Amino acid sequence: STSDDHDSKRVKDDAQAAPPPAAQRPVVVWIRSDLRISDNSALTRASRIAVADGNPLVVMFVVSPNEWLEHDMAAIKCRFILHCVSALRDALALLNVSFVTLTAASRRDVPQVVCDAVVRLNANRILWNIEYEIHETQRDKKVTKLLADRQIPSTACHDQCILMPGKARTKEGKVYTVFTPFKKTWITILQKDPSLYKLQPMSAPLPVASPALLETITAISTGLPTTVPQPFEAPSQELIDFADKMYPAGEANARIRLESFVKARIKGYKNDRDSPGKDLTSRLSAYLALGVISPRECLVEALNANNQKFDSGSDGAVTWISELCWRDFYKNILVEYPRVCKNQPFKLETDNVTWTTDPESPLFKAWCTGHTGYPIVDAGMRQLLAEGWMHNRVRMIVASFLTKDLGIDWRLGEKHFMRHLIDGDLASNNGGWQWAASTGTDSQPYFRIFNPTLQSEKFDPAGSYIRKFVPELKGVLGKEIHDPKGKLGLPRIAKLGYVAPIVDHKIASQAFLEAFKRGIGK
Ligand code: FAD
Repeated sequence: STSDDHDSKRVKDDAQAAPPPAAQRPVVVWIRSDLRISDNSALTRASRIAVADGNPLVVMFVVSPNEWLEHDMAAIKCRFILHCVSALRDALALLNVSFVTLTAASRRDVPQVVCDAVVRLNANRILWNIEYEIHETQRDKKVTKLLADRQIPSTACHDQCILMPGKARTKEGKVYTVFTPFKKTWITILQKDPSLYKLQPMSAPLPVASPALLETITAISTGLPTTVPQPFEAPSQELIDFADKMYPAGEANARIRLESFVKARIKGYKNDRDSPGKDLTSRLSAYLALGVISPRECLVEALNANNQKFDSGSDGAVTWISELCWRDFYKNILVEYPRVCKNQPFKLETDNVTWTTDPESPLFKAWCTGHTGYPIVDAGMRQLLAEGWMHNRVRMIVASFLTKDLGIDWRLGEKHFMRHLIDGDLASNNGGWQWAASTGTDSQPYFRIFNPTLQSEKFDPAGSYIRKFVPELKGVLGKEIHDPKGKLGLPRIAKLGYVAPIVDHKIASQAFLEAFKRGIGK
């Protein structure tokens, strides 16, 4: 006997007037970080099964704010998820696909919530796309087990990467831990078999859900929050205004972004991508992180603009395809080395390096709020707070500064990024942070340290990026903007209301080198 007895009786009563509901055993797709219809592996597969069996398709989403917060999700990302789910629900309705929204009180509750709903829906199977992170993997194992106990099969599909993790390996079957050879093999495999990135449409038309099924759906749906739910703190109005302009929800908008980038900017991408002041990258990361657009679709568009070539032709397209490969590379690392999900360094020999780990330390606070006295660092950290995004070049600069100038643990920086990024993604974020801290893959040698002033002069030569985000320095014209203390002197900086540098780069980076060497026993 289950708690569903009462409802199944009600369904039976209704069935006297309508066709027998037992005839409908929907195929369920549990949507997570794959918030789109096009080229969605699980959805495509489920639609084929549904059409073949004459069963309706039901899509399910679990709202789980406590779990999301436990994973350090940014409130602005949570908001973006809810908006994208709502857009997806509306788009699916036009295709006869019903949508169930469920709510879980905590991470631990998710498997039972999903299982109960699948049972209530009398589903004949459930499909989902794999999320590779460690907690998500454990969660899915539990759901599989709970459902198997009820004789309901579940199918996990590969979808998040262009090439399935584990596919690109050395001839000896070893994992690539360096990007360039990984990319070479990645390209070879994809060139040999273009079906690997062929876009897959959903089957249609899909059978219509019976009134009884719709009634069950209404009964179990908890509704989608319209604002960022507790325990998240609401994002600032400035951030909301920015996100609404920059990241309109839903896959149609992601596609417009992709198409306009490929049409207007991909050609110049190789030269433009390192100029934070120009802001000419695709800005697709938030959509890719939530699966609002498929990475294969991004690849196909880039290849279409480059005569189907991966590694020759337009420099811009080749470089952009390489960035999509970085995304696959870091997912691959996360799958092959799950320890990176557990706060451990990729390079185990760096585990004994001593970092400052106090999140209350004034140096950390100055970095978080953009008050280090290094203008390019401060501009980046303030862009993160204002936009929920930071330019890739500046992410590298601020990450290097936190770890190698301030000697602060990369894990604090990684967490701060996750809590503010609209595109927060464990694999890419962890990969980027460990790269910068010299604890990760393919990293620059630990003794090569970014000089923030030189980086600023090179990548923001006119200072336009700094002026945009550090208003105190708006009136500083010319090269002085990169090094206000050195060029203008402390009294002038104080008059402008800007801070003096919190550390001296030369001394601080020397201290880091000593500490790092000690940590790795050199
Ligand atoms: P584009 O330059 O247009 O690139 C296209 C796509 O390729 C991106 O949307 C992204 O999906 C992928 N990509 C580009 N660069 C990288 C990279 N270095 N690693 C992995 N994928 C890449 N990216 C995230 O998506 N989420 C993160 O949480 C994240 N954290 C980072 C932390 C640090 C310290 C660093 C150095 C990088 C991080 N990145 C992260 C990678 C990169 O900065 C962003 O993907 C990029 O800035 C997004 O802007 P865009 O969409 O305009 O990228």
